[in-house]
Order: sequence, then C-alpha cells, then structure tokens
Amino acid sequence: MNRLYSRLLFSYILTVVVTLMVIGGALLLLWHSRPVPAGNLYQRLGDIARGAALRLAEEAENSERLDPAQALAVLRRIAETSELRLLVISEDPKHVLFDSREKIPRDQPVPDYQINPQHSQPPMVAGSFTDPEDKLTWLFIGWPFEPDRPRPDFLPPRPKDRLILLAIPMPQPSLSVTLQNFGEEIVVPMIQAGMVGVFVSVVLAALIARSVAKPLQQTAQAAQAVADGHLDQQLPEEGPTEVQTLARSFNHMTNAVKASQQTQRDFVANVSHDLRTPLTVIQGFSQAILDSATESPERAATVIHDEAARMSRMVQDLLDLARLESGQLQMTYAQVNPELLLQTVAGRFALYAESQNIMLKIDIDDDLPVITGDGDRLAQVLTNLVDNALKHTPAGGTVTLSGTYVEQNGAVELAVSDTGKGIPQEDLSRIFERFYQVDKARTRDKHRKGAGLGLAISKEIVSAHGGSIHAESVVGLGSRFVVRLPTSRETASGGQ
Ligand code: ADP
Repeated sequence: MNRLYSRLLFSYILTVVVTLMVIGGALLLLWHSRPVPAGNLYQRLGDIARGAALRLAEEAENSERLDPAQALAVLRRIAETSELRLLVISEDPKHVLFDSREKIPRDQPVPDYQINPQHSQPPMVAGSFTDPEDKLTWLFIGWPFEPDRPRPDFLPPRPKDRLILLAIPMPQPSLSVTLQNFGEEIVVPMIQAGMVGVFVSVVLAALIARSVAKPLQQTAQAAQAVADGHLDQQLPEEGPTEVQTLARSFNHMTNAVKASQQTQRDFVANVSHDLRTPLTVIQGFSQAILDSATESPERAATVIHDEAARMSRMVQDLLDLARLESGQLQMTYAQVNPELLLQTVAGRFALYAESQNIMLKIDIDDDLPVITGDGDRLAQVLTNLVDNALKHTPAGGTVTLSGTYVEQNGAVELAVSDTGKGIPQEDLSRIFERFYQVDKARTRDKHRKGAGLGLAISKEIVSAHGGSIHAESVVGLGSRFVVRLPTSRETASGGQ
C-alpha cells in the first residue's frame, strides 16, 4: 500500500465506490419521497365498491324492499370485513351523515373534500378528504346511495341526494417498505451496473495510476543509477508539464554533478602537476649538491629556494581558495578608503615597474566614497591584478590603476588597465576559473610564474564583498580588469 501506484489505484477505486454509494443513497431517498401513485388504490376501491353495489343489488332482489337502514347494515359489514371506512354524506352541501369510524360528527362538513376527476367514472366519483384527527389523507370512491329497487321508468327519478364513500388511508411508505420495493425493483440492476462501472473504472484507474507513477519510477531508477556512479543518466523530457520540469531538473542536476566531478578531477590533476614540477627541480638540485656534482652550490640553493617559495605560494593560494569557497575565511570588515588602497598597491610595485620599464599610473576621482570591506583582502585582489598586468605588459607599456564612483549603481569601480598583449575573446570568460591559464608557456618571468589561481581567488573575495569582477580586452591593445564594490553593506546584494 506504500507504493504510489497502489495508493493511486486504491484512491480511484474508493472514489468510484463512494460515488456509486452516494448515487444509490440519493436514488433511494428520491424514491422514498416520490408521491404514491393513487391510481392502483382507486382501482382497488372501485372493485370493492362494485362488489358492494352487487351485494346491495342482490339484497334488494331477495327482500321485497331494502330500506336505508338495512342497506347501511350491509355496507357496514362490507366495510368491517375489508377494513375500509364507510361514510354516507349528503350531496349538497357535503355533510357527513354517517362515519363507520365515528370520527367526524354527524352534519359536519367533510373536511378538505376534493374530487379527483382523472379517476372518476360516473356515476362513481373518486376523491380524497383529510381526517382532522389523525391528519391522514383518505382516498375514496363514492357513488349515489339508492338502496331501493330500481323504479319503473314512468316515475321521475329520485334525487340522488346521498353519496356513499368507501375510503382507505393513503399509505405513508416507511423506509423499510421503500427499501423492500427499492430492493426488488432497483437494487439488483443497480448493483449489476455498479459492478460493471467498478470494473471499467478499475481498468481505467490502473492505466492512469501507471501513467502517473511511471515517470517517478523512472526518475527513482535514474537517481539510483547516478548514486551508483553512472552519471550518464538522462530522462526523456516528455509528458505533462510537471513531469517535464522534473526530468529537466534531473538532467540539469546530473550534468552539474558530471561537471563538478570533472572539475574535481582537473583540480587534482592540476595540483599534482603544478607541485610535481618544483619538487622535481628541488630534488634534482639538492641531489646535485649532495653529490657535489654542481659547480655552483649557491646557484642550486637559490633555485631550490625559489621553487620552494613558489610551492609555498601555491599551497597558500589553494588554502585561501578552499577557505573562501567553503565560507570559512572570515572577512574583517572596516571602512576602507579606496584611494589609499590603490596608492598602497601601486607603491608596492613602483620599483618593479620601473625595473621593467613600465609606467605605473594612478587615476582617481576626487571625491570617492569610502567602502566597507576587508582592506587586506581587497589589497590582495588589486595586487594580483597589477601583478598580472605587469607580467603581461612589455617594456615601454603602461599600467593604470583607476578609481571611479558610479552613481547609477552606488558603487565604486577599481580598475587595472594595461597596454599588454590582451586576452583572446574565447579565454576571457574562463580566466576566472581555477588553474585556467591562457598560455602557460609564455609567461614572461618564469620566477614569477603563477598557477592560475590568482583570478579565481580574486573573484571569491570580491563576491564575498557583494561586488563583481569582470575583464575587458582587445588582443594587441591591452586588458582592463574592473572590480565593482558597493559603497555600503546594505546595498551589497549584487555579486557575480
Ligand atoms: P596566473 O597565476 O597564471 O596569473 P590568474 O588567475 O591570475 O593566474 O590569471 C589567469 C590567466 O589569465 C593568466 O594565466 C593569464 O593568461 C591571463 N591573464 C590575467 N591577467 C592578464 C592580463 N592583464 N593580460 C593578459 N592576460 C592576463
């Protein structure tokens, strides 16, 4: 029952059975409250009345004369034996002269006297009255009371001034009686129809439940396969919108997992490669010193020192990046003067730029607002950008540090531009990836060679400040790296 398929099937069947039961109950109630057809009752009364008339005629035949009292006695016997109510009323007005139940007093008008012309067959009349005492509606058949023998034709007919009414109470159907009738007439065919309905709906429900459950089963199987390491799972994006959305999200997820695994593999490969090179160099030179195989142990020691420093830088970068990505590296926020920041960073490179014959310029707006940020980390970003710019700019070039306030987004833009070789368009979007280097071999100063982590770290730091970083470049003319930082922490909702 825990399977979605069984649950759906069960709920469909339950719905159908409940619906059928409600329909059955409603039919029963309607059946119960429908008016009882009076036709049969009138017919029964009519038969009894005709029988009574025959009896009266017989009595009249046998005796010389049948007086009203005798006739009444006969009728009374008929009424008693057939459990009918017998009334004799005056024709006009309709007043009671005799009531076998002795409920309506003599000379009282017949209460709620109504003729039902549809069932009247002259001289007989069919109709109803309501007994005020028991509140029952009585159906009656009445006919003129002529106890005498038929008169000879030449005598004027006697006024038909009396009517004899034979009455029975209109039946009040009880629920059990209704059920009984209902049962005989309807329940059996209804159960049969219901069974057919249930059968058809079970088949339909099974089909519908399967169509709903199938994509979920497929997704579950594919997810299990992904968990088992088979990342090539793709779900067909078809069916209802929700299923399509699920399939799309699933496919997106597996692609992302695949990409992340690939990045992970690349990362390990890059780290091991970039560490192995200096290690090999260190090993080689130290071995040479040990074997006294080198003419200049100082030179070998310098190489070992440089390579060890490079490795140390790289390990530090890796640690920084890992901490930044996992959010473990806490920023120490304070008010930072961007002008001071740019000048400090430029100061660090002044001598080196001069030695490389590169002009280092600073171009800062007059009234730059202060920013809230971690001064050391922001300096690290700018240092990395200026370092890159100087690395990729030939002698005679210019590297410019600028600071502008962009009122439109309430942000300060710190930019580092150079007149270097530029970055090809296809690499521009990837240089912020870990270990991405446009051309590893062609870095000018092999002692200052990086590992392709600087821009990735810069991007993480800027993101942590709620800012963004991007690069613009024209090959042959130079590059421009722009760091955009919000001027207050409240507006720091942007980011890459
Ligand atoms: P690296 O340690 O190699 O400098 P970065 O992440 O700092 O790593 O930079 C990634 C790559 O982007 C560099 O290898 C270089 O190819 C390219 N790059 C960065 N800055 C510049 C620049 N100013 N001019 C040309 N290429 C650049």
